[in-house]
Amino acid sequence: MEENNQASGTRSTSMIQEDHEASSVEDILKEAIKNRHQILYLNYKCLPEFPMVLCSVKEDGQSLYDHVERLYMKRNLLETLPSGISRLCGLKELYLHSNNLSSLPDELSAVPHLESLDVSENCLQNLPSSIGRCPCLQKLILSNNQLNQLPPEIGNIKTLETLIVNDNHLSLLPTEIGNCVKLKSLNVDRNRLRRLPRQLTRLVYLEELSAQGNKLLYIPMDLGCCTDALRSVYVDNNPHLEAVPFNLWKKDVGARRCGTLPILESEYSASLRVNVDGMSALLPPEIKVAMTTVDSKVYQVPSLLEITLKYVNSVLGCNRYTSQENLDTLPKDLAERVRFPISNCSAPNGCDNKIFTIAWVHLLKIKWAQPWQEDANSIGLVAFLCSETCYKIFKRIPIPI
Ligand SMILES: [Zn+2]
Repeated sequence: MEENNQASGTRSTSMIQEDHEASSVEDILKEAIKNRHQILYLNYKCLPEFPMVLCSVKEDGQSLYDHVERLYMKRNLLETLPSGISRLCGLKELYLHSNNLSSLPDELSAVPHLESLDVSENCLQNLPSSIGRCPCLQKLILSNNQLNQLPPEIGNIKTLETLIVNDNHLSLLPTEIGNCVKLKSLNVDRNRLRRLPRQLTRLVYLEELSAQGNKLLYIPMDLGCCTDALRSVYVDNNPHLEAVPFNLWKKDVGARRCGTLPILESEYSASLRVNVDGMSALLPPEIKVAMTTVDSKVYQVPSLLEITLKYVNSVLGCNRYTSQENLDTLPKDLAERVRFPISNCSAPNGCDNKIFTIAWVHLLKIKWAQPWQEDANSIGLVAFLCSETCYKIFKRIPIPI
């Protein structure tokens, strides 16, 4: 990652980098002012503190270093950042890989043009909620910290395109992440996640989702259903994950070493588990009734909740793009359920009916083109259908390969 960041400069900037590596911090900072350098390389300098001169202002009140756009400070000893950092008014990229940061100041969100922040390999246990006020942050890299959670305010960063939080301690992702409407790449590898919020299905620009090495029990059923942008979903090494949504069958899916460990019943007491043709899958807990054969003759009267959700959804013309304002009259939990059905019907007749609490479920394996399908442990696909009719159509029509 750092190679990419630092190779982004031109030949002349790499010469500056070499210069900086050999020079003292004082010389670099003096030279930077004299030549109005846009890039400052202060990597590997053993700096115990952020150089305060970078935060100083001239007599006219302007920042002394307002020309600095990219600041690289890999492998120093920084424990905090000064509040004056917001005076770096030209700063677009701040690279603080491998320091000792245990917190970030609220003033970071006042750096007016900050587009890229990399604080990988630090000791962060929390991310301040003020991060949501960063006006133009596009890239946020938080790899290898000790984060237990992300603040819901992260959903306020409407400019965010890349969010990398691998190797932390997250057990939940905030549902508000679905508000990061420009997100293209999300990496939450090696955390402690059991589920991913279904609000992720709202991210129409999401191209790559990586959630390897977690404890996922299922993934959002509608993932990949309504957007062509999503290309790759990597969920390898989720030992309890038994099946991925049918909608992903045309995508690049990594699912090695999934379904290798049994799930204790106590771990999924709120969820139904279905078995079809020797395969099994755990369903999201919102599904209360699951039918897996037409012979079972389990004809249920739809619950009041299912009827209500379907009705409100159709009356409001809800879909994942519907704004919250249309739903403001509903309690938040109900509004979220209306807005984000568990799945659309997967029948190939274009049915597309919304499914909230009742589903006809089919499990299947098809010969995928990806290499992982040849693995002994390759996992199945789970399809949700809205009715017996759609279920029969789905089973009758062969999947084109
Ligand atoms: Zn249907």
